Amino acid sequence: MSKNKRIVSGIQPTGNLHLGNYLGAIRNWVVMQNEMKEGDDCVFFLADLHAITMPQAPDALAENVRNMAATLLASGIDPKQAIFFAQSDVAAHSEMAWLLNCVARIGWLNRMTQFKEKSGKNREGASVGLYTYPVLQAADVMLYQATHVPVGEDQKQHLELARDIATKFNNDYDEKIFNLPEPIIQKTAARVMSLRNGSSKMSKSDPSDLSRINLTDSNDDIAQKIRKAKTDPDPIPENESGLTDRPEAKNLLGIYSALKGVAINNVLQQFAGQGFGQFKPELAELVVSSVGPIRDKLSTFKDDPAEIDRILLAGAEKAAVIAEETLKKAYQVMGLRRRA
Ligand code: ATP
Ligand code: MG
Repeated sequence: MSKNKRIVSGIQPTGNLHLGNYLGAIRNWVVMQNEMKEGDDCVFFLADLHAITMPQAPDALAENVRNMAATLLASGIDPKQAIFFAQSDVAAHSEMAWLLNCVARIGWLNRMTQFKEKSGKNREGASVGLYTYPVLQAADVMLYQATHVPVGEDQKQHLELARDIATKFNNDYDEKIFNLPEPIIQKTAARVMSLRNGSSKMSKSDPSDLSRINLTDSNDDIAQKIRKAKTDPDPIPENESGLTDRPEAKNLLGIYSALKGVAINNVLQQFAGQGFGQFKPELAELVVSSVGPIRDKLSTFKDDPAEIDRILLAGAEKAAVIAEETLKKAYQVMGLRRRA
């Protein structure tokens, strides 16, 4: 057989998902799933074991996992096409992470910039899990013999580390247990900015609800938030250079371009010369027609948490079959006695 692709990707479960999460993260999964060719696989999981590297309220975590699962399903993840599950439902992730912790070197982890950023000034008080976070990520992809891993700018270093760990493991035990995954550098992932301030990103932690479009907003809420979105009095320019120093204008046009799937220059040509008073209703209509169906499906899923659990467990069973095969080989070559 020629080389089939296996894409592996995880996302941390969070609540209050918004248009920025959708365009920057969720939609990429749906696109990857829909672009798969015969024989390829997508392995997508909710990274709840990664979430606990920082303090989590247990009830909120459990709810966020279901909420995130519902959002992904409502956005188009199809459990018949992709292997879709929660990380903690597949014990092999934790087990493999331990084996890899004993192969990864402290010096390698000390170079990881994410730990330095996330632990901040309180490094001594950070969890050990936060420190070995990238080793768990290495386990996540290596268990499935991932060929491709989508990475944003901030995750490139972690994928390099995963490749280093895989290489050392294969060398130390003189057997090719793990495939070395290649990065898929995300195609200009849309970065959506706050509707109230074009220089800060749309975020769930912004105290102003008017700053973001939540995936649960009603059509009226969406229309109202776009009507109130900050802009400037100038007309829409003919080309991108006319958006320099106009972050709010650029953001609204960028959202239109991302949702419509057309290049920003084409959007500018279509609306050049119009004011935002004319453009905003068009944008509102587009956002409503994109977010509305997701919101409605999301609410159906949320009414049936048992169905979400069934979908996640069925996905975990499929994932475990692949993961166990790799895990067993790893135990075996290390000389460990874990029973089959
Ligand atoms: P917080 O404010 O707590 O950091 P957030 O709104 O930034 O929350 P995250 O949970 O940090 O959301 O991010 C989840 C995913 O969504 C990540 O892949 C992140 O890159 C993406 N994302 C978050 N905000 C945006 C945004 N405004 N534009 C594009 N992508 C985004
Ligand atoms: Mg964030």
